[in-house]
Amino acid sequence: MNWLTNFIRPKIRSIVEQKDVPDNLWQKCPSCEGMLFHRDLSENMNVCYHCGHHMPVAVMQRLAMLFDDGKFRDIPLPKVPHDPLKFKDRKKYGDRLKESRHKTRREDALVIAEGAIGGLPAIIAAFDFSFMGGSMGAAMGEGIVAAAELAVSRSAAFIVIPSSGGARMQEGMISLMQMPRTIIAAEMVKDARLPYIVILTDPTTGGVSASFAMIGDIHMAEPGCTIGFAGKRVIQETIREELPPGFQTAEYLLDHGMVDMVIPRRDMRETLIRILDLIFNKHMKNHGSRDKNGRAATGSGGRNGKNGNKKGGGALASLKGKALPGKLPANTNKPRAKKSAKR
Ligand SMILES: [Zn+2]
Repeated sequence: MNWLTNFIRPKIRSIVEQKDVPDNLWQKCPSCEGMLFHRDLSENMNVCYHCGHHMPVAVMQRLAMLFDDGKFRDIPLPKVPHDPLKFKDRKKYGDRLKESRHKTRREDALVIAEGAIGGLPAIIAAFDFSFMGGSMGAAMGEGIVAAAELAVSRSAAFIVIPSSGGARMQEGMISLMQMPRTIIAAEMVKDARLPYIVILTDPTTGGVSASFAMIGDIHMAEPGCTIGFAGKRVIQETIREELPPGFQTAEYLLDHGMVDMVIPRRDMRETLIRILDLIFNKHMKNHGSRDKNGRAATGSGGRNGKNGNKKGGGALASLKGKALPGKLPANTNKPRAKKSAKR
């Protein structure tokens, strides 16, 4: 009896417990409720392989998916005074910040990354939703301004990947001030005739969707993601009308002209490369040759430009894009050239 209870039973228990499956190996798809094995899911970029539902993906993983060879440089966020209002609700804002910083090992909800996409220079400012819901405070605003400045100084494309609940309530007025500041940052990139691309992910709402996230040259979105300003219920109660099905989804916004293309996660990098290649290699060469008036450059550049434009229309059209040609640097050049001529 004793050797059975003291020796055999613990042995058996230890074997059984070892084989016990940890909870995090399998997870349920919130859309189709299919069971997903963690390794297969991460190989599929956190997209359900039963129904194609796009689940959240960690910000560093997302950046690695987009940059060449998954390599990029993490640029530290500029320092800002934290908790300027000494705000307190149920908890002190300072304590909330400390907790989030400890949990995510990040200063705030933004990651600035520098690298190459398809061999072309790019600066990405990506939100980390796990840091206070990706909310936008002074650190975020300052970070976006710094990232835009870096893109201009490097003549790189500026890509923003928002995933945010909106403004950071605990910073009150200061968080609202980040809306005009980030818009100015985006305008700075456009003034430098560099592409400003927004990749909308789930969710993009509130003050973020009401500022820099909706003024991109090109708006890409992940399938099924929520994009909107106020919540659906708030709108429904205000206007007292039933809202259409699929309201505030990427697909709904595509149909209504707010989004240029809805791209599955696995095609995002390829699409970005195609767009950047069109803008940098076809358009910019073309303009470089016009400015310099060099003979050789004009000849080859002109031809490239013509072909490039034709290809450009085709490629963008094939992406189902309504690629806002009016907002692309190609056309913003013209009025500016006139202005400088007048001066
Ligand atoms: Zn599913």
